[in-house]
Amino acid sequence: MGKLMYPYVTTVNPGSGSCEYQCEFCYMNELKRNFSDVRKKYSGVARMDDKALKKICGSGKVYFVGSGVDLFGYQISLMPEILERCCQYDNYYIFHTKNSYGFDRFLSKFPDKTILAVTIESDEDMNLISVAPEFLVRFLCLTGIKRRIKNLTNSGAANWTIKPRVMITIEPIMKFTARFAEQLIELAPDIVVIGADSGKHDLPEPSFEEVRELIDALTAALPYVRLKDTLFDRYPELPYERWTDDIWRINNE
Ligand code: SF4
Repeated sequence: MGKLMYPYVTTVNPGSGSCEYQCEFCYMNELKRNFSDVRKKYSGVARMDDKALKKICGSGKVYFVGSGVDLFGYQISLMPEILERCCQYDNYYIFHTKNSYGFDRFLSKFPDKTILAVTIESDEDMNLISVAPEFLVRFLCLTGIKRRIKNLTNSGAANWTIKPRVMITIEPIMKFTARFAEQLIELAPDIVVIGADSGKHDLPEPSFEEVRELIDALTAALPYVRLKDTLFDRYPELPYERWTDDIWRINNE
């Protein structure tokens, strides 16, 4: 996850405890080093932060649920209570993970107006800098999720008036293979967001031309591709517009 991750959202962090995936580039690492309360909250075993959970309320808001830890890693046992709370309030909800299998486990339980966001930084092996599920696992699970959303919607087995949308976040973007764009397009995500390493972690990054070709391919094939400021900080010459719109409330059919 990343700081100021998305515009137009209210971030809530009901999950406490350490993150299973230990990404070297996680923005929380610096916060944990510098602030004892953050260190305390995001260390140790998974547990609910009841005060944070109760911040989910009202209506008409867009909540990003879980920016400080991946709720579908060690914290996955907290999800039934979190989802139950979300379902009581008529808001948009963004859930984010690197473990797309976690989404699959709870698929019919997500509230209306949900955005299921999966981070896919690259299609190359990253096991030296993160222990999150590898690209192929994320890819295959997402393929299944898209199919199951369709089945649950058509059969009426899930209580959605607006079915979940799938988002892929390529952030921090890292060196990828020549097949990356093609594979992402195959997943047909509703939204794609691209950002770069904001913390100067010396990651293996693609060249300017590679990023440009990727963006061109994705924008030609997919409806909503949005570029974060972090991408322009890293590649200032990119000839595209920055992300400014409130994309979360764009409903699907
Ligand atoms: S999965 Fe997200 S929250 Fe967890 S370590 Fe990686 S970047 Fe940080």
